[in-house]
Amino acid sequence: MSIHIFGNTPATRPITVKGYCPDCGDSVTFDSLRSVDLTITTHEKGIPQTGSGTCHAGLRSCPGADCHFLVFYIYDPSSGETKFFPPVKISFDKKNLPKKVLQAFEEAIDCFANECFMSTGMMIRKTLEEVCADRGATGDNLFKKIESLKTKVSVPNDFFDGLHNLRFLGNDAAHIESQVFASLGHKECQAGLNVLRMFLQSVYQYKSILEELDSLKS
Ligand SMILES: [Zn+2]
Repeated sequence: MSIHIFGNTPATRPITVKGYCPDCGDSVTFDSLRSVDLTITTHEKGIPQTGSGTCHAGLRSCPGADCHFLVFYIYDPSSGETKFFPPVKISFDKKNLPKKVLQAFEEAIDCFANECFMSTGMMIRKTLEEVCADRGATGDNLFKKIESLKTKVSVPNDFFDGLHNLRFLGNDAAHIESQVFASLGHKECQAGLNVLRMFLQSVYQYKSILEELDSLKS
């Protein structure tokens, strides 16, 4: 969303702002602050003489008792879209992830939150490379490394089709035009990150999840 201001007035009614908190990740209705929301008339970039739409903007805080994170929101009534700054990130559990895997995956999520989809695709691929390195999967290209990974991790076989799709996503990100996926945008990257997140859980976290329940037995 790119907003260019043509004019602004104080909003005449309170705006209800809902969404995921960028900090704690909870789905919340944000608290109002003692600041006035703005109703903004926007203009198309490059043609500042004519108003072209209306949106609302202002400050809010997360109602979470341990959070109260400050966000700036922009709400576009015509599309129903609300954007937050800092942007909302996909939440995930960092437990037991090796440092290099975590670093690459966090950067993929940062790129996605900032709508840098080609960079997201490349960092998804980089995360996969780091998992292969961590588990000692070998090969002179990522295809061979993923095939080698089959003998290094205990996950359902279906995952490996998913990993090859992630490899394609990374390849498409490195090319000028997508060659396997129709495009490389929000949907493709979100689906890719979901596959990768579940794979990381299966490789690095399932034991601790099982142990947590086991440890609660008397
Ligand atoms: Zn929060």
